[in-house]
Amino acid sequence: MRYQELSYWLSTMDDPLTPRPPLGGDADADVVIVGAGYTGLWTAYYLAVADPALRITVLEREIAGFGASGRNGGWCSALFPTSLPALARRHGRDAALRMQRAMQETVREVGRAVAAEGIDCDWQLGGTVVLARSEAQLGRARAEVAEARAHGLDPADLVLLDAAEAAARCTAEGVRGGTYTPHCAVLHPARLVRGLARAVERRGVRIHERTPVTAIRAGAAVTPAGTVRAPVVVRATEGYTPGLPGQRRAVAPVYSLMVATEPLPEEIWARIGLAQRETFSDHRHVIIYGQRTADGRLAFGGRGAPYHFGSRVEPGYDREPRVFAALRRTLGELFPVLGPEVPVSHTWGGPLGVARDWSASVGLDTSTGLAWAGGYVGDGVGTANLAGRTLADLIRGAESDLTSLPWVGHRSPRWEPEPVRWLAVNAGLKVMFSADRAELRTGRPSRRAALCNRFLGH
Ligand SMILES: Cc1cc2nc3c(=O)[nH]c(=O)nc-3n(C[C@H](O)[C@H](O)[C@H](O)COP(=O)(O)OP(=O)(O)OC[C@H]3O[C@@H](n4cnc5c(N)ncnc54)[C@H](O)[C@@H]3O)c2cc1C
Repeated sequence: MRYQELSYWLSTMDDPLTPRPPLGGDADADVVIVGAGYTGLWTAYYLAVADPALRITVLEREIAGFGASGRNGGWCSALFPTSLPALARRHGRDAALRMQRAMQETVREVGRAVAAEGIDCDWQLGGTVVLARSEAQLGRARAEVAEARAHGLDPADLVLLDAAEAAARCTAEGVRGGTYTPHCAVLHPARLVRGLARAVERRGVRIHERTPVTAIRAGAAVTPAGTVRAPVVVRATEGYTPGLPGQRRAVAPVYSLMVATEPLPEEIWARIGLAQRETFSDHRHVIIYGQRTADGRLAFGGRGAPYHFGSRVEPGYDREPRVFAALRRTLGELFPVLGPEVPVSHTWGGPLGVARDWSASVGLDTSTGLAWAGGYVGDGVGTANLAGRTLADLIRGAESDLTSLPWVGHRSPRWEPEPVRWLAVNAGLKVMFSADRAELRTGRPSRRAALCNRFLGH
């Protein structure tokens, strides 16, 4: 496999992406981690920092950064998939606010860690601007700010922008306003994950690549080449989790796809803005996201690719010409300055993990030593760092501010069996797409989309 072809990011690495040696046979460790994405590697990192004597082994089916961590949009944000009101309903207002503050602190912690480890990943703390381009979107922007205030966040966390303020950050077509938060950094995702792999190796962690784990059980991660025995086994496989025995309905792998333009000339950037490399989106239902890369491209993505029956994950699903064409069209609508032929040079995609109740979770079952983190619903760049720090505390038995956060130990319900799961996820996507189209036409918010959101639980 040519790993460079998996994303624009992996194609722009100095590193040849040569796989590390696979596991050679049975082995022992104190902690074995399955999956070398952000979750697995941050967990290894904070464990190794806290206790350099720990014997930590990471097993990865392909190479570090093969999964979503080497392919994402590079928003290291404080977004948490469960909304503040939903968290407050379940756990109380204080716990919800603590979770939100922990996420904000996580954005800064990733910045500190990459600086400390010398990971050159084009990190820039420019915040996020989310545009409102219809009356309905403006209504959602206002509601989001009101909700944030009601739950204890202040203008230093999130502000409403009028049309001029929003356009001053990002001049897209038809901007009527928006929201801005400073709690997001932009980065080169693959450089982060590959740099992290090297950072943990420097601290004595063993990484075996091209080593598929065929079963996880108490005390062991089993591979065709041998079994790694360890009192703690961490599952860090996110969108790929349904491929493990007994995990078919744990998360739904939902695909997000991206395109990148050729580097754009300065005069185009002068018209678009994003001068602080703010990440950007708008308040539509079907999520879109973008960043201005350090080499002057627009990297732009969105959900909307179909969910595949039986939670299947296959390389071919990363590439949906229909979705790439839609992303290109959307970029052209947002930024007519790009011209009728938006100059796209790269297209790619990958799966992310969605839990049935839209809740990310992290935990360790102390009776079995089985630990997990994931279900980030596409907000994993920051959240995986918080998961890694939290798992490091849980595994070492250290009680901390992190181990009492409300997502710790949360168990999401399983997804419905097929064909219900396939019907529900794909019907939900259809409703959201048609709601976005109708809202742009009529300006009125869609009631069907609100109902669908309620069914999906967020
Ligand atoms: C296109 C796209 C855009 C995104 N944009 C953003 C964004 O801008 N901001 C944001 O916060 N989030 C974003 N996300 C989500 C984010 O990338 C993920 O939440 C995050 O990378 C998850 O990290 P992870 O380590 O848990 O999982 P992954 O990075 O998916 O890593 C899991 C690893 O486990 C390995 N693995 C799986 N099964 C096995 C097995 N049986 N044996 C051994 N190894 C195995 C895989 O090969 C993989 O390397 C995006 C995701 C995608 C796909």
